Amino acid sequence: MGTFIVKMADEKGSNWYFEYSTISDSVCTTAMTRDEFEKYYRDEYGRRAMDFDFGERMKRVDAKGTSARMDESAEDTIGSCDRSGTNETWLSPKQVLELAIAWRTDPKHQIEGVDHDLICCMCGKPIASEADRVWQSDDECDPLHTACAGKG
Ligand SMILES: [Zn+2]
Repeated sequence: MGTFIVKMADEKGSNWYFEYSTISDSVCTTAMTRDEFEKYYRDEYGRRAMDFDFGERMKRVDAKGTSARMDESAEDTIGSCDRSGTNETWLSPKQVLELAIAWRTDPKHQIEGVDHDLICCMCGKPIASEADRVWQSDDECDPLHTACAGKG
């Protein structure tokens, strides 16, 4: 399963649902309300999927923010490998939500993200300076904070 349902709240506390692909590491639908998302899912995957797995998946989404069994939250699913930004740059989970909401009115909207060489693959946060960066060669998601390098 490479496509997950995630739920995130915006600043006003409204919940938004969208799909996120861990194959392309990017958001793949606009943000939708619960009703809109249910309709989308039915149109996209059909009645069989509604009976078969929609309820189960949404139970996980409502409990922890993601349908991914291994993840604890939407932030976990989106994580440090995100490529939703312009030219496959990294967006924070908050920016991913912002982008998915913007697509509701402007499907071509883009957000300029951070280059992957500047994102720590352990904690998923930007690395501020060259001096704080170490490389890990056996991982496709390479750079780490010096402090994070000792933890893995
Ligand atoms: Zn780090």
